[in-house]
Amino acid sequence: MPWNLLHVDSAQARLLAARAQDAAARTGDARAEAWARLTTGFHQLYYATAAEAAAELRQALAAFEACGDGAGRILAGAGIARSMWREGRVNEALLQVLPLRDEGVRLLRHDQLGVLLNTIAGCYSALGDSTRAFAYMFEALRDARPSQGRGFDTVLHCNLAHELLQIGDYEHGLQHVDQGLARCQGLKNQRLVSVLLINRVICLTELRRASECMPDVHALLAMPADASGRGRMATHFESMAIAALRAGDTALGDELVRRALAEGESRLPDEQLERVTARALLALVRGQVQAAADILRPHAALATSDDIEGLSLRVRAQFFGVMSEACERLDDPSQALLALRQWQNLHRAQAQLASRARYQAANLQTELLRLQHRLDENDARRRSTERARAELAAANEQLLNKVREVQALQDALRRQATQDTLTGLFNRRHLNDTLPTLFALAQREERPMSLVIIDLDHFKHVNDDHGHAAGDLLLAAFGELLAQHVRKSDVACRYGGEEFCLLMPRTAAEAARRKVESLLKRWRTKVFDFEGLVIDGLSFSAGVADTAIASASSDALLKAADEELLNAKRDGRNRVGVASRAAGMRGELVAR
Ligand code: GH3
Ligand code: MG
Ligand code: MG
Repeated sequence: MPWNLLHVDSAQARLLAARAQDAAARTGDARAEAWARLTTGFHQLYYATAAEAAAELRQALAAFEACGDGAGRILAGAGIARSMWREGRVNEALLQVLPLRDEGVRLLRHDQLGVLLNTIAGCYSALGDSTRAFAYMFEALRDARPSQGRGFDTVLHCNLAHELLQIGDYEHGLQHVDQGLARCQGLKNQRLVSVLLINRVICLTELRRASECMPDVHALLAMPADASGRGRMATHFESMAIAALRAGDTALGDELVRRALAEGESRLPDEQLERVTARALLALVRGQVQAAADILRPHAALATSDDIEGLSLRVRAQFFGVMSEACERLDDPSQALLALRQWQNLHRAQAQLASRARYQAANLQTELLRLQHRLDENDARRRSTERARAELAAANEQLLNKVREVQALQDALRRQATQDTLTGLFNRRHLNDTLPTLFALAQREERPMSLVIIDLDHFKHVNDDHGHAAGDLLLAAFGELLAQHVRKSDVACRYGGEEFCLLMPRTAAEAARRKVESLLKRWRTKVFDFEGLVIDGLSFSAGVADTAIASASSDALLKAADEELLNAKRDGRNRVGVASRAAGMRGELVAR
């Protein structure tokens, strides 16, 4: 609901309210339209003029009455009261809002009740009843705590600061401004920031530390006076002018006084009197002492009166402060003393107000502090949980990488353990591991398995004539030949050096011989060009035996094949020897 964004992101609230209003008008949803209008009206209370806000809020009120939405009706009523007080009609505003209180306490929750109670607080504040103002703010705070307040607690920091400066407690006022500004960082609400900054300007000026607030003044002047900035209402040029003049920046003071006057006649007594004070102070710092006195004198009666609603003790005291300075410089000690007496009376009144309100103010501050602590704690807890989660995730990631690394390493080791790197075939260790098993399997299945040992012929010459690298190349090429042309179920190994071993399950010696001869044929046709020198005429010798012949053990099988290899070498190489059934007889075949 756009209403919930009012303090959190005011521009977005306004935008969504406009859209919601359009949509509701199309679908005829009167209640939704009323809430959209209410949001717009409240937005205008902060960013537009009181009259614009009042018009919108009256329509919202009528719509809420028509559809019987009690909560909406009370909030619209509170908004209308605010628009009255914004125009200086404070008593009227209080009469409008007070009757809504009891029903509001029953019907409203959280920030909504906060808005109602805070409106009542605002009226009492403007009427100079700080005790009641603090008490209502306290109630408002209890219902609009940070977790549910949707930014409303920040509004309360702001209002508390304002009320503290009404009773002359500027130091505490500054603390709440700072806390409010810190909380504003989570919000998108320029108006709220600007009001907090104005409060800081006033506090620092009253504390005679005006030069410290000049960055705030410049920040405020940089904010556009519309809904994208600090709004059109209560621009406070006069407060900033006094700050600039007290800080010694006469040119800026002059400009700000002119901008204040250009705003036109104000309906707010505080604003009216502060403008007079600003004009007089400008004349005074320019040395136009008589002119300053002349500016002030016609308003002395107003500043003395206790009966003007919405005229604060602070602004009245400020007026007499400047008046006494002017009279002093005019060498009119009796008038200066009179002004000082007024100044003193107002300060006494402020002190009385403060002592009456102190208990409430202290309560409110304690409660705010407590809530702030809880909020900070929650924040810290959330942050530490997030941090722990991030650390855990990082540790997991690291662990995962380590596991992957170890797996890759294990894979490599496993490969290295069973594989010959030069040819990519299995190595001798793998042969030793698998041969007994395959031998046993063959026996059990009663199917023959052949074992072939191949030794490349005159390989030493290749190394001697063409170098070791050429030898390696040929070994790799032979490995590839084996890998390409034997069955997947066969096990091709590099037995060592230029010797290879082939296990051929479910294959009798005769079939193995045919296979090996076809390999020999292929190997003979190979021609390698190594660095411009041709290597061809290659051959190998092989010995074949199968489990039907050498049935005693895998060693016997190996030995039989090896013997056939030796015989093939002895008989002139370039051939395949096959162990025959008859002991001592050799089925020897010269490859064609
Ligand atoms: P034969 O026909 O009697 O088998 O003669 P041969 O030269 O092939 O046999 P011999 O056992 O005398 O020599 C084997 C040669 O194979 C010696 C060695 O330099 C070479 N050799 C063994 N392993 C490798 C290797 O990994 N790379 C290279 N380039 N040569 C190797
Ligand atoms: Mg050899
Ligand atoms: Mg050899």
